[in-house]
Amino acid sequence: MSQAAVKSVTEVEDLYGAGTYHKRKLVIVRGQGARLWSQDGKEYIDCVGGQGAANVGHQNPYVNKAIQEQSQNLVNCTELFYNDQRARLLETLARLTPARIRRFFFCNSGAESVEGAFKFARLATGRTRIVAAMRGYHGKSMGALSATWNKEYREPFEPLVPGFLHLPFDNLEKTCQAITDETAAFIVEPVQGESGVRPGSCEYFQGVEAHCRKTGTLLILDEVQTGFCRTGRMFASEHFGIEPDILCLAKSLAGGVPMGAIGISEAVSAKLFKLAHTSTFGGNPLACAAANAAIRFMEDRQLAERSRDLGAEFMSELRQINSPKIREVRGLGLMVGVELKEKAGPYIQQLMERGVLVLGAGPTVIRYLPPLVIECDDLKRVAAETARVLG
Ligand SMILES: *Cc1c(COP(=O)(O)O)cnc(C)c1O
Repeated sequence: MSQAAVKSVTEVEDLYGAGTYHKRKLVIVRGQGARLWSQDGKEYIDCVGGQGAANVGHQNPYVNKAIQEQSQNLVNCTELFYNDQRARLLETLARLTPARIRRFFFCNSGAESVEGAFKFARLATGRTRIVAAMRGYHGKSMGALSATWNKEYREPFEPLVPGFLHLPFDNLEKTCQAITDETAAFIVEPVQGESGVRPGSCEYFQGVEAHCRKTGTLLILDEVQTGFCRTGRMFASEHFGIEPDILCLAKSLAGGVPMGAIGISEAVSAKLFKLAHTSTFGGNPLACAAANAAIRFMEDRQLAERSRDLGAEFMSELRQINSPKIREVRGLGLMVGVELKEKAGPYIQQLMERGVLVLGAGPTVIRYLPPLVIECDDLKRVAAETARVLG
């Protein structure tokens, strides 16, 4: 491809895109597993992983085949009707999610999953207050944004939904003080993603869960990023032995095809009424077929175990890097962050120039969310390149 063609893609996007994204000057046109290729033919190791949507890898053979086959049967079918792919996915999710989660509402993104969760929590409890965690990220639609912590995202859009309160993440005492018998729900990520890859502690999650049960508050786990094998379990709640009343899912649910889901307990479901919440594209057969294939792949290939083992090895390699710039290496499974004592941006850029694509998470953290199919040698190279740029 000529240089002019590369320029025209970026020019067109810069000219006609709404302009709400930080973009890297890179035109990605193809992927395979944990590799990506740019329009000018350069190869990259992908540790962006679709920001968490590519757990099963690019051009996943199961997902590709399912999309092809389903496109020849039926792409769209609203929930006015029943559908075979949707029924199959419901059964699978009911089998895999925590025991308390018995029913599912399908939507199309993470923010939508969080929006619906809040509506369901209000109906189920008759209460309106929501407690969330500082540094939490739950999306950018008005309700989800009300739970998101970052003031830069929130303040320009105030007034937001009333009744939201943010307490320090992983602080059991303060969180319990804020959760009362007037609180509809507490929403939290098992590992905070966007704000810096921060796993919470067992004591915190179990303590909050017990306090929620005592006050009749619903526990909403936002597993949009941690779900589907990312942290070394199918769902991160399994690490902490907790049972949410509402479970938010999206990102890798359908192998990269846009889809979200809200898992709810039988008690929450009992309080919903017909048309309380709906979505035209929710539960469409194409996304459901992709999800069925993606989840089958995760189970066949034991992606959770792979994520656990590769993540442990990767983190131990990162911890061996002898650099005064590193404050901490932390994570769970293949959700990994390197916190620096300085801004991460320049190092993210240098890694890209060396053929490794990574994410930021807050100003000082380099975040790695590789597809879980990544080869061991590729991860070793990512660690080596990280050592080089930080050395
Ligand atoms: C990405 C993310 C969201 C929002 O998902 P979108 O699909 O971008 O709306 C919500 N919660 C968490 C934890 C996320 O990582």
